[in-house]
Amino acid sequence: MTIRVRFAPSPTGMLHIGGARTALFNYLFARHHGGQFLLRIEDTDRERSTPEATQVILDALDWLDLKSDEPPVYQSTRYARHREVVEQMLAAGTAYRCYCSREELAELRAEAERSKKPFRYDGRWRDRDPAEAPPGVDPVIRLRAPREGETVIHDLVQGEVRVRNAELDDMILLRSDGTPTYLHAVVVDDHDMAISHVIRGDDHLTNTFRQAQIYDAMGWARPNFAHIPLIHGADGAKLSKRHGAVSVLQFRDEGYLPEALCNYLLRLGWGHGDAEILPRDQQVALFDLDGVGRAASRMDYAKLVHVNAVFLRAAEDERLAADIVARLARDHGFTVGTEAAGRIAMLMPGLKERARTLAELAESALFIVREAPLPMTEKAAALLTEAARDDLAALLLDFDNTDFSKAALHEAMKAYAEREEKKLGAIAQPLRAALTGSTVSPPIDAVMEALGPIEVRKRIFAVLGE
Ligand code: GLU
Repeated sequence: MTIRVRFAPSPTGMLHIGGARTALFNYLFARHHGGQFLLRIEDTDRERSTPEATQVILDALDWLDLKSDEPPVYQSTRYARHREVVEQMLAAGTAYRCYCSREELAELRAEAERSKKPFRYDGRWRDRDPAEAPPGVDPVIRLRAPREGETVIHDLVQGEVRVRNAELDDMILLRSDGTPTYLHAVVVDDHDMAISHVIRGDDHLTNTFRQAQIYDAMGWARPNFAHIPLIHGADGAKLSKRHGAVSVLQFRDEGYLPEALCNYLLRLGWGHGDAEILPRDQQVALFDLDGVGRAASRMDYAKLVHVNAVFLRAAEDERLAADIVARLARDHGFTVGTEAAGRIAMLMPGLKERARTLAELAESALFIVREAPLPMTEKAAALLTEAARDDLAALLLDFDNTDFSKAALHEAMKAYAEREEKKLGAIAQPLRAALTGSTVSPPIDAVMEALGPIEVRKRIFAVLGE
């Protein structure tokens, strides 16, 4: 069997991380089995499905590196085909026109409410002669669903799930304005796209019974179904904005790396022994549906931060530096020139050891782009005592006799400390305060090397008040 899966988001203005995880599972499943991963934009809700909303999804998937193997299919372009299938069903007698008026349906609904039963259309036009149709009523088209027996789904995650057909009514396939219903459109599209496995959130499980009935009515082979449990907040409630970020692009803006978010989302609901950190190629090698758990997972933001820190340390310095330059401009209003960008890149190995997100990383790089005099943290200011300032002034002279390489600067500091019978830290910490405005930074010799002699002098002079 050729494995073909799809991610089928409705463009609603964001890609939720639950959706991102569904996309990831589909993608990994396709890659693991040498199949194809496709994208279908379910843009049938005319109000919400704007080109901008679609672009948000495409951007988010791009960022997560979950690219479709074929151009995306837009559901709204396929109405003619959805109608054509309904015509075939009418001809075959597996669907029928229903001329029920709004009032009749309202009455049925009210009756169900009175008797506290779920509303079910009673099939009154199922066998009625269309010649009896009232004039001027545009009919809806309904599936002639089986009434006996059961519809059974062998779900690859949930196991066998079944429903008595008597509990399902004759669903609408085509509305009276000729537009297909969502359930119908999905089946026709999945069939035409030759989808072998439908992997989606378990909120769609109940739809599956109805969709299975459409496949059966058309005599089409059903795809395999796999319904994955949803992601909840730490409190067990449905994940929402009040728990923290839920939109993929918000995670991007808050400074998460796409590979970290993917790794985290993968582990949320799928496991392979104790393996926590897995590069994409290993994810592809190991992922299969049998590792997907049945219980809802809980979003743990602290864990995500931890995973992000691990990926941050492993990320390439140039890539991080480019991101930080953009972030300093966007979030902090600094236009970073080439000289400063070079300094950021040079200090990246030390900076990334101390940050957990790109936002923290950008903050830790602020001292590089600021102009002297730097703003000081309270702790940093307290280190710059009279004696410390004397040390700084003397040190500057010693630094002038070096080539300003990290090693030479380190030697100069050490020699000075020995000469003055002070601990190296007692020299390095005020220096750090003067050069970074803070008590934490990458190693101070590396900072000095990156800033260069002119900038180091400027910053020390600013502290000395000269
Ligand atoms: N468009 C649906 C959604 O956004 C998904 C439909 C499906 O995967 O079958 O929830």
